[in-house]
Amino acid sequence: MNAFQDLLQTPVEFLKGVGPAKAELLRKELGIGVYEDLLQYFPFRHIDRSKYYKINELQESFALVQLKGVLTAFELVGAGPKQRLVAQFTDGQGQMELIWFQSIRWIQSGLKVGEPYVVFGKPTLFKNTYSIVHPEIELVKDLQQGKGIVSLQPVYYSTEKLKQRGLDTRSIARCTWQALEASMPHLVENLPQGLRQHFQLVDRKTAFKQIHYPESLEQLEQARRRLKFEELFFLQFGMIYNKRARKAAQRGHVFSQVGQYFNGFYQNHLPFELTDAQKRVVKEIREDMRTGQQMNRLLQGDVGSGKTVVALLTMLLAADNGFQACLMAPTEILATQHYQSIKMLLGELPVEVALLTGSTRIKERRVLHEKLRSGALHFLIGTHALIEPEVQFHNLGLTIIDEQHRFGVAQRAKLWAKNAIMPHVMVMTATPIPRTLAMTLYGDLDVSVIDQLPMGRKPIKTMHATDAQRLKVFEFMRQEIAKGRQVYVVYPLIEESEKLDLKDLTDGYESMSRAFPLPNYRVSIVHGKMKPEDKQFEMNRFITGNTHIMVATTVIEVGVNVPNASIMVIENAERFGLSQLHQLRGRVGRGAEQSYCILMSSNKLSVDAKLRLKTMCETNDGFKIAEVDLELRGPGDMAGTQQSGMVDFKIADLTTDADILRQSRQAVEAIFSHDPELQLSDSRQLVQAYKQYHRQHKNWSAIS
Ligand code: ADP
Ligand code: MG
Repeated sequence: MNAFQDLLQTPVEFLKGVGPAKAELLRKELGIGVYEDLLQYFPFRHIDRSKYYKINELQESFALVQLKGVLTAFELVGAGPKQRLVAQFTDGQGQMELIWFQSIRWIQSGLKVGEPYVVFGKPTLFKNTYSIVHPEIELVKDLQQGKGIVSLQPVYYSTEKLKQRGLDTRSIARCTWQALEASMPHLVENLPQGLRQHFQLVDRKTAFKQIHYPESLEQLEQARRRLKFEELFFLQFGMIYNKRARKAAQRGHVFSQVGQYFNGFYQNHLPFELTDAQKRVVKEIREDMRTGQQMNRLLQGDVGSGKTVVALLTMLLAADNGFQACLMAPTEILATQHYQSIKMLLGELPVEVALLTGSTRIKERRVLHEKLRSGALHFLIGTHALIEPEVQFHNLGLTIIDEQHRFGVAQRAKLWAKNAIMPHVMVMTATPIPRTLAMTLYGDLDVSVIDQLPMGRKPIKTMHATDAQRLKVFEFMRQEIAKGRQVYVVYPLIEESEKLDLKDLTDGYESMSRAFPLPNYRVSIVHGKMKPEDKQFEMNRFITGNTHIMVATTVIEVGVNVPNASIMVIENAERFGLSQLHQLRGRVGRGAEQSYCILMSSNKLSVDAKLRLKTMCETNDGFKIAEVDLELRGPGDMAGTQQSGMVDFKIADLTTDADILRQSRQAVEAIFSHDPELQLSDSRQLVQAYKQYHRQHKNWSAIS
């Protein structure tokens, strides 16, 4: 570290007016420890101090006003706790009062009659006179001495605790000012000049100065743009840089053979022709796995796009090369279903597959562990149970994880840790990630997208119905059931009120059972509180067509495949998020029949809820839905982003900064394509700058 950086690392306790106790509080409350943290503690807005009001123009509706004038008199009014200091203030035309209830003596001792002051605060009207309680008040001559003469005054977020200790927005502003003054000569530019010119970015010093103390709104905007660009640039630069470093360092198993397992299945067992998208993706995966580098790939595909068969083909490649493969799913139901569909697809092919979940019996487990260690078992499918220490593979070459956002990073790492050479990893997700987010969140992974549904699928028809139309909906269900179809009825599950939800669900089950009585109709129920065996039993009744209606909570959200089910009724649909609605809808439309999704809601809907339901009725395109979801909720709430730990931006906001994101991505891509080995001096400096930047943004972690 050089002396320059040291200065930025100066503890804030050395600032005037801070000291050890306040410094400790700043660290605890706002995470501010050193000058650099203060520089990065951006104001959340600015107050325009260039405009002065006249007392005669004041209106009660004004929020904050600034006035210039002199004090003509002041006096203490009242006694005891109600005592206050009242000063008469005039701007030559009008007259008003300034009032203080606290620190009266101290304020009184500083006030000067006849000297020009600048006063700032919220005016209130009482008995025809305006007053400001606890105004900010400063002598014009002090302001002119540059002690903070700013037209746009920064406003910083502060906490109650800090305010009690005198660290309000104004004293924080004094701290940032001091830290800026001291640091300014030592702030080092971290973007090459050519790049700055091309994207018209102000230099780094200017940006830091002007984000706190701009002279105009244009300056503020330029500063913000520069710092947002920088943040998004280094995030993406780091993604690619780290991915390359990892690839160079991380040897992978070489899957060079395409042999009897893959070909045997492909030629004789595949029950349909792959879609072009599936073919393309299988090819991408094959090429990736034979390079000698470890594959780390995200497989994105909307519900029903056919990820399972792609997973199976990938696993067969592992087998062809003498390796074992495992497939991990987030729930027991889903793991079981994967197991069953893979068993069925494989038919009599000589591939040994086993299922391991929390409910696998000890005896079975022992056999299974043994076969796994000897290598007799080719594929292991299961839940988190796969991560347990006693599960030891003979030679694990491939790990596939379904629905990654349900597994934490640490959990996945455990699975990797089992081998000297990391297995190839493929994460499958049905959560479409908007293109604007994909590189930012998953730039570290290679991404394959199945962007096409199998032929002959009829698009699901979605409609919105209110409770008043329930009888019609029931009638429609009867017609479909009469044609041999099955129906899901799903209730929301919100953890805070699980009891209420369970009641909704059981009430729903009862009313369904009344509307669809035995012996003509049979209704299943599944929810999270049931024992796994019971859940499985009920699921199986529905899967095998023994029941017509499945009343469930969102436990059925992920992966369940019942092609004969053609209606999805979602109760209280207004309580679901868009991506969840889309996931649920994906449970139908899996067979050849026309399928329907019916969104039930009350009449009263919020604006957002209306937009969600409307979007669902208008489109089946998961990517479009994800874009709307992103707009409504912001990236922090998007499914799949929480675990990534990468949306904790200092200044960038992916919802509003799509343009800057795109430009910064262009910039990063240009660098790696012009100078792939990063040998030019600009590139080398960028690597240094990235490392420096990364130290300050420790919460950017790789997702795998
Ligand atoms: P998801 O991507 O949601 O996991 P699945 O893998 O469960 O989708 O596939 C959905 C359904 O589509 C399954 O019944 C599967 O057998 C079928 N399927 C997959 N690929 C094709 C294809 N190319 N042509 C016809 N049906 C397909
Ligand atoms: Mg699936």
